[in-house]
Amino acid sequence: MTQIIKRLEAHVANQIAAGEVVQRPASLVKELLENAVDAGATEIALHIKEGGKLLVQVIDNGVGMSAQDAVLCFERHATSKLQTAEDLFKIQTKGFRGEALASIAAIAQVVMKTRTQESELGREIHIAAGKLEENIEVVTPVGTSFAVNNLFYNIPARRNFLKSKQVEQRHITDEFHRLALVHPGIKFSFFADGAPLFVLPSTSFNQRIVQIFGKKIQDKLVPVKEETPQLKISGFVLKPESAKKSKGTQFFFVNQRFIKSNSLHFAVVNAFEGLIANGVHPGYFLQIEVDPQTIDINIHPTKTEIKFEDEHTLYAILRSAIKHSLGQFNVAPVLDFERDPNLDNSYDTLKKPAPIPHISVDASFNPFEIQETPNSLKQSSHKPQSSYASKNTFYQKPSSWESLYSNIAHDSNEMNVLEPSDAFNKLSQGSNDLYAEESHMQAGFFDAQMPSKSTHNCFQLGRKYLVSSTKSGLLVIHQSRAHQRVLYERFLTNFTHQEAASQQLLFPKELSFTIPEIMRLKELMSPLHSLGFNMEIKDNQTLSISGIPIVLQEKDVSQVIQDFLSTYEAGHLGDHFSQTDILAKALAKSMAIKTGDVLELPEQLNLIDELFACKEFLTSPFGKSVMTNLQQTDLDLKFL
Ligand code: ADP
Ligand code: MG
Repeated sequence: MTQIIKRLEAHVANQIAAGEVVQRPASLVKELLENAVDAGATEIALHIKEGGKLLVQVIDNGVGMSAQDAVLCFERHATSKLQTAEDLFKIQTKGFRGEALASIAAIAQVVMKTRTQESELGREIHIAAGKLEENIEVVTPVGTSFAVNNLFYNIPARRNFLKSKQVEQRHITDEFHRLALVHPGIKFSFFADGAPLFVLPSTSFNQRIVQIFGKKIQDKLVPVKEETPQLKISGFVLKPESAKKSKGTQFFFVNQRFIKSNSLHFAVVNAFEGLIANGVHPGYFLQIEVDPQTIDINIHPTKTEIKFEDEHTLYAILRSAIKHSLGQFNVAPVLDFERDPNLDNSYDTLKKPAPIPHISVDASFNPFEIQETPNSLKQSSHKPQSSYASKNTFYQKPSSWESLYSNIAHDSNEMNVLEPSDAFNKLSQGSNDLYAEESHMQAGFFDAQMPSKSTHNCFQLGRKYLVSSTKSGLLVIHQSRAHQRVLYERFLTNFTHQEAASQQLLFPKELSFTIPEIMRLKELMSPLHSLGFNMEIKDNQTLSISGIPIVLQEKDVSQVIQDFLSTYEAGHLGDHFSQTDILAKALAKSMAIKTGDVLELPEQLNLIDELFACKEFLTSPFGKSVMTNLQQTDLDLKFL
């Protein structure tokens, strides 16, 4: 029998281990910043180039390493933070596995300089692909400078998987925030391609949050504090009104380590129950201190997931601590948790007399009236000319509503000479004259699918669906998804042709955002511009907008930008094509009419009209069904 099992060489084993520890430049940042904190640094500087793909460098003023340690630290399982297995259960440091530096050195070109207080001279070490290339004496300050160049230079397959500079920089920024937040006593700075992004002098936890997320977050912080024999909770939740669709501002730190935990997240969500809408997430910065013996950090190589000995108790205490804070700071309605805010009267309505309700009844309305269906509305060569688009303009009655039927006029000379009221009357009577020229067109699928265009055979069901009769049954259209589809196709066209019409604002509108949001907006500047937004970033927290797309109303701008940042964040960022796609989807989603919106009849018909002018009218941009066709034969089956 021949021996086929061989022990892997150290550099191969390290490369494999690196797969777990280093996924992207942000992983380097996490490991190096953590080492600097563990080394007792009071000042830490992070420098990156090209989103960390060219360089990630961390410079600290910590204890440094001796000449021997400077070489040893690159060995696998070499650590100063743990000696015995029992130590694993009283870990106070960030690192303990002793594999980060060995892994990093296996997949990049590393230059490290380090010196301890005791020695006059330091060491400079060069390592590439796990091989020591240089080890010399140098003059260098006390502390350590660790530069990682050309990540994955020796593994092209992994290098190719790295995302754009902006995306990688965003991940790095997230890691930087996580560490800087929980060590406010340390001065942190962060430079990207030579430019300072963050310079954070030593301060308190609360002020560190403000340093990172901007002044406007200060008024939104609600303090949370709880202490029991088993644990200590401190930190802040954000007021319910600042809950967002994205999961941007959610930080749990357990024993000063950033962690992700679904169960703790649900404890917070549960505490906010009744205060925030479905689909939005509360923001929080929460620190939990527990006895290190009661948690296991060693269940994941990146140490962002941990196991709690008694998760149930922690869940309950966290939830009640937050509920208590929300109540105490008058954020939650203390007396009546079931109160419906829609029933609250604002102060100015109290002064006004109650309006007399206006009821208009259409006596001749019969939703089930099936009319002799005129032929298809779909005109391949004709785009509807309606001017509505946003939810708000949608409500405005078109000034000359006969334009809603412009596609009919297009083919009918007769229409051109009709007064609008005549046209209305004719349509109301379901007259076929108007459609005479069209009736020979497009038999087949559309015949059955398309609603008949009569003013009386469309109605709104549950403020959610538009129901219209077709030749062979009933068409039920999801109003919100239909409008999403219409807007989405319009925005995609705008992107492609770069011809989005923009309206100049009388006075530029200034909106403030958090620093991370501003960084995201910088990435989105050029596609936003092609959508009709004219804007510039004024300082690190202000966006000045001088022009907006015609389809948008000024008062909605802030919400739309916020919404689409969230959708953009939630989506997977890919090449230019998918970015424009995400942008178009995000805008369509936030600007579309919603379930619950009441639509006037002309608006209903106009929406249907525009929907059928779309390239793909059966599904929403998010792949959901837009309409269903209830065939008369299906109905017949129900009446057997
Ligand atoms: P771990 O952090 O899990 O111990 P690492 O591979 O990250 O493993 O680091 C190995 C060792 O190198 C550490 O235990 C520490 O003694 C030393 N070291 C790493 N970075 C620094 C630094 N910035 N300053 C001083 N010592 C460091
Ligand atoms: Mg480490």
